[in-house]
Amino acid sequence: MGMPVRITLYAPDRAAADAAADAAFKRIKELNAILSDYEPDSELSLLSKTSGGGETVPLSPDLWTVLSRAQELSRRSDGAFDVTVGPAVWLWRKARVVRKLPDPAALAEAMKAVGWRKIVLDPQKRAAKLLVPNMRLDLGAIAKGYAADEALAALRRRGVTRALVAAGGDMALGDPPPGKPGWRIAVASLEMAEDDVCGHAWRPQPQGANAQDPPHFIIASRCSLATSGDLFQHVEIDGKRYSHIVDPRTGIGLTDHSLVVVIARDGIAADGLATTVSVLGPRAGLKLIEATAGAEAFVARKLSDKTEWFESKGFRRFREKASSLP
Ligand code: AMP
Ligand code: MG
Repeated sequence: MGMPVRITLYAPDRAAADAAADAAFKRIKELNAILSDYEPDSELSLLSKTSGGGETVPLSPDLWTVLSRAQELSRRSDGAFDVTVGPAVWLWRKARVVRKLPDPAALAEAMKAVGWRKIVLDPQKRAAKLLVPNMRLDLGAIAKGYAADEALAALRRRGVTRALVAAGGDMALGDPPPGKPGWRIAVASLEMAEDDVCGHAWRPQPQGANAQDPPHFIIASRCSLATSGDLFQHVEIDGKRYSHIVDPRTGIGLTDHSLVVVIARDGIAADGLATTVSVLGPRAGLKLIEATAGAEAFVARKLSDKTEWFESKGFRRFREKASSLP
């Protein structure tokens, strides 16, 4: 899934910690072999290869879980979230390397294979049929949250409950550290450089961090948290910045400069919703969040020189007491 995973845990001794962490990393490796669109032999890639062939393909329990939840989110967001966006994403990945916009004809061709209704799921058989040729499913916006949750579950099976699994900006939070009300998570700022985000900003911070830290902190436990936005990956072409998140309705990388943080009951919901809110924008995005049980979100958006902040009604309870909206 193309990102480092960091596990923080509390265990009675080193051997118990190592054994639990090994089990969690093993589970992530297993999921990578199923859900990655980079691995040519992953179950997902093999499914994509059947597209347009009329075949109904039975899915493993993991792929079924992620794909059926992805389709539910596509329906709820009216297609703003769409795992069939792969062929367009692939052209934007190339654009990022050569720093040239995708060729419009190639993009139009790619878009023929994009559209969530081109996946037909059979809940009885737990199988999928991909209706048109050249489809390329991409679970990059939802699989990291699932993998983090599953790694946390693997730790729990080994008796470790006080743990945090961070797959980039997607985190699964278990019970809090001993004697603490929750995990203390630093929220990245819109101005932060990519290296900062990957390097240190998303580590759980020690209590009492100093004034140089990012603008505010979240205190949470027993939930999942995801971050999304153009801050993490983008390309600048002719002075315009395009995100790695693509609007499935146009095939164009988002040009909004924004940061979205979602807290939800599980990682699939948090990860998927964070990407969806990035596409929908703060108003429609927060409406979707408010309609989702157990979900809360914070959105920062920069329009020319002005930065705006938005949050769902219940987000406040996750804010560290000392910090408030800037
Ligand atoms: P995230 O970092 O969770 O927001 O996911 C971004 C990744 O999801 C991108 O790198 C693409 O692989 C994929 N993606 C891009 N746009 C969309 C979209 N509109 N719906 C679903 N997946 C997307
Ligand atoms: Mg996501």
